[in-house]
Amino acid sequence: MSLSQVQQPEDLHDQIVILVGSAIRLLNGEAGVFVVANEAFDPLSSAEYTAYRLSDAGCRFLLALAQQRAQPDRVHPLVIDEMAREQMELPDMLDMDVEELPVGMLQRCALLVYDHAGVLGALHYVRPTGARSCFERTHGEGDALPLFITHLAAGFRTALKTQVLLKEQSRLADIFQQSAEGILTVDGSLRIVDFNPTMERLTGWSESEVLGKYYYEVLRPQERQGNGQGQGERDPLFARAFTIHGNVQREMILTARDGQPFDVFVTASSIRSSRGEPVGGILTVRDLTREREQEEQRSTFISVISHELQTPIAIIKGYASTLARPDAVLEQETLRSRLQAIEEEADSLNKLVSNLLYASRIQAGGLQMDIAPLDLASLVQKVAHRLGVKSPGVTVRLELPAHLPTVMADRDRIEEVLQNLLDNALKYSPKRRVVTVSCHSTSDEVIVSVSDQGMGIALRDQEQIFDRFHRVDNSSTRSTQGAGLGLYICRAIVEAHGGTIWVESVLHQGSTFSFSLPREEKAHVPMVVF
Ligand code: ADP
Repeated sequence: MSLSQVQQPEDLHDQIVILVGSAIRLLNGEAGVFVVANEAFDPLSSAEYTAYRLSDAGCRFLLALAQQRAQPDRVHPLVIDEMAREQMELPDMLDMDVEELPVGMLQRCALLVYDHAGVLGALHYVRPTGARSCFERTHGEGDALPLFITHLAAGFRTALKTQVLLKEQSRLADIFQQSAEGILTVDGSLRIVDFNPTMERLTGWSESEVLGKYYYEVLRPQERQGNGQGQGERDPLFARAFTIHGNVQREMILTARDGQPFDVFVTASSIRSSRGEPVGGILTVRDLTREREQEEQRSTFISVISHELQTPIAIIKGYASTLARPDAVLEQETLRSRLQAIEEEADSLNKLVSNLLYASRIQAGGLQMDIAPLDLASLVQKVAHRLGVKSPGVTVRLELPAHLPTVMADRDRIEEVLQNLLDNALKYSPKRRVVTVSCHSTSDEVIVSVSDQGMGIALRDQEQIFDRFHRVDNSSTRSTQGAGLGLYICRAIVEAHGGTIWVESVLHQGSTFSFSLPREEKAHVPMVVF
């Protein structure tokens, strides 16, 4: 049985109820309760009382009565007395039809359940007066009661121990199921016995598919240098864990179900028999992809930023030093074009710095929004017009419906999103300078799309371009400036409005970036505040 299929402690509780019920019936009782002794009680695993055909009130009633009467002990393990007047109250407290209760007088009985290790508890029950069980013989016939108590105690001892074990097992199962690290266990021949949900998520295999299979066939582990591992007995990871008394730790590459390799840090250790022989192994797996991505991001950040800073600074410095030369004689036109270039480079530096500040603000936890009803159509017209004035060689086509519903949005921020998408559409369309901006509405949202006929984006890059500092690496993008922050910022802004942003693109044919914003009457903008 794998750790995903542990027996529930409730199943065992039912078995204890059966044990209590059978004991009471064998003693000719009708209803009763078993009370665990203090010394045998484990608050984490056992219930203090187990009732048979008695309500809670019935248990309290019977136990209160027992306290006033004689207590059983090892010399007199079974005490019996008449219930007298109290029995009138009992029928209301029984968990059975009153008709089932025999007519006539009732007795209350208390049986001490103990063994050589100590007292396990007491069985309190009611029975018809004189309904002596076969275990209580008169003198001379031999008393079978001690033997009955021994068997009953053995039954309870086992049940209580099993309950502790089950609780322990379910605690382990919780750790196994909830662990953020992948855990798999194997038997002595390296066949998979357990495979936790994190392992399922990391590899794409479900536990039921891999149980009983050789772990190295499922995960195809490789050393980080790319050498395949040995198989079976020669598997170096477990072979080492089985020979040493300790953990084997190393970075490795595992293969997911879809054939994709992924970097992990594994710890292999052995499970040993009481004689110290290895009978199985445990492998914990930490996914290093995220850490690697972060490392990569850090180095990309440094190289992108230094490149993006150095280029305009070099241009500004170059032009400024030519202009500053005492012998410089420049025509008015040349002077203007150089000053213009300096201004443009200063603008791009300014843009980069403000994007960096923006990105760090997003990372720090939020964007402040100034939400109000917004007419997107007029905003689109304004941004498109500005672009047309700034870049005369560009055609911006607008496809706007006659009536576009208003949205709830921060005008300045959405303007930034539009501006960014339009800038990219031009930046990544070196030849075809036609950009289309269209808007349409659904019952819940207004959707804005910016389409170009540029270089397009390969499918594998489409998911990542919204990540920080991610730039598609090809010769065309290398020749354009950019820090890979624009789309990251766009996504943060759109999502802070409760909308989504996505791309549809075909390589070498063009891209359409779209974003949606909730319509004014449907808006439920998540508050993202500093
Ligand atoms: P930047 O343009 O500064 O590099 P962005 O976050 O705006 O950063 O874009 C990330 C990457 O997505 C770009 O480097 C580019 O590779 C790709 N990209 C964005 N827009 C387009 C587009 N319209 N066509 C093709 N590629 C695009």
